[in-house]
Amino acid sequence: MPSIFSKIVSGDIPALKIYEDQASLAFLDISPVSRGHTLVISKDEHADLYAMPPETLAAVTRTVQRVARGLRAALQPDGINIIQNNGAAAGQTVFHYHVHIIPRWEGDNAVRLWQPRDADQAELRALAEQIGVAITDLQSVNAQGAPRSASA
Ligand code: AMP
Repeated sequence: MPSIFSKIVSGDIPALKIYEDQASLAFLDISPVSRGHTLVISKDEHADLYAMPPETLAAVTRTVQRVARGLRAALQPDGINIIQNNGAAAGQTVFHYHVHIIPRWEGDNAVRLWQPRDADQAELRALAEQIGVAITDLQSVNAQGAPRSASA
């Protein structure tokens, strides 16, 4: 079944469109957390960041920059958050790749992303090593054209 965003792409359900090109579409979020809250999606349906073909990801990212510049010119926010959720645990509710562009004004409290905490330096070093090795392993697997595991 097509995602709700695919239905917007096909015109089966309405959206307040801001910009589109061959690969991407930008429209206003139906439940905005701030004035001008916009979503940029890939026109093709890909569940999340992991599934995005690099060229499509590049095209969507170009549109994110274009729309962010447009929002800045139109609304003069004090700042802009770019947020992209992957997985239900990270807050993703629509499993079709999308990027939130959220204009921000001083003191609006529209988004509270994280609370910094103290970290153990040895643990940070071990984490950096572990993640770096995983990236290198994935690169060599991909270079050999081997199938990716579901968790890759
Ligand atoms: P996420 O939680 O990152 O998956 O974000 C999904 C976003 O899609 C939410 O901010 C919703 O408000 C938004 N949304 C869902 N349906 C629509 C729709 N039909 N038109 C515009 N935005 C939508």
